[in-house]
Amino acid sequence: MAKFVGAHTSASGGVFNAVYEAQEIGARAFALFTKNQKRWEAKALETKVIDKFQKALLDSGIEAKHILPHDSYLINLGHPDEEKLLKSRNAFIDELERCEILGLELLNFHPGSHLKEITEDECLLNISESINIALDKTKGVKAVIENTAGQGTNLGYKFEHLAQIIDKVEDKSRVGVCIDTCHMFAAGYDIRTRETYDKTWNDFSDIVGFEYLMGMHINDSKPPLGSKKDRHHSLGEGEIGIDTFKFLMKDERMDDIPLILETIDSSIWKQEIEMLYSFVD
Ligand SMILES: [Zn+2]
Ligand SMILES: [Zn+2]
Repeated sequence: MAKFVGAHTSASGGVFNAVYEAQEIGARAFALFTKNQKRWEAKALETKVIDKFQKALLDSGIEAKHILPHDSYLINLGHPDEEKLLKSRNAFIDELERCEILGLELLNFHPGSHLKEITEDECLLNISESINIALDKTKGVKAVIENTAGQGTNLGYKFEHLAQIIDKVEDKSRVGVCIDTCHMFAAGYDIRTRETYDKTWNDFSDIVGFEYLMGMHINDSKPPLGSKKDRHHSLGEGEIGIDTFKFLMKDERMDDIPLILETIDSSIWKQEIEMLYSFVD
């Protein structure tokens, strides 16, 4: 089977716990925070934790390319204030290093917010520059930009934003995107019918390109199309509906990348994963 489905599992008590939880729910992929996502500081990963993580991974059979770590919510790589931008850039470098030390290949992050203090173009340029600086100071791990719902002053809700960021990244081999179905729908991209699904992904292909698609977040949406609100829902329970997830699971362009549930009820992740696999034929 060419599809790798999982969920954003909990690393509380140690990053290895995220692997154990992934195994328990029948996941072939997973996402995790490698540190507390609500704090700036984190102590360095201890050797015994790293070893335990790598052993758990070997046992699980899950490969690094199917693991999509997510960075801290505090980081804003487009920050209008120079000092705060520097703080974010340093924290992002630390996140990349944590991934590297764990043997991971991807780091998923939300692009950034202009906070109404600078223009969209200036903010997007800050983000590209942040990525350039971080890639320059690290090795191996790819920076994976997530599309957003467009809530508040967050950029990255239009495919054009993602393309504009990538355009100014020097090492294109180390940048990619993660598309969240809930965010895409909230941003106004319809994907509910065969027709709209095809149209939206054709636009993605023209503007960004599938060569940059490194992962997906598979979520239904509580609010309607174009709401610009980021509220996830369980698959088939929200405004997107189950058909979209059937289209996705039969779509070869999503083969061999992590497909991660961030749906609201973790007690049914196992069933949601089983259901998604049942859609593959
Ligand atoms: Zn997401
Ligand atoms: Zn979200």
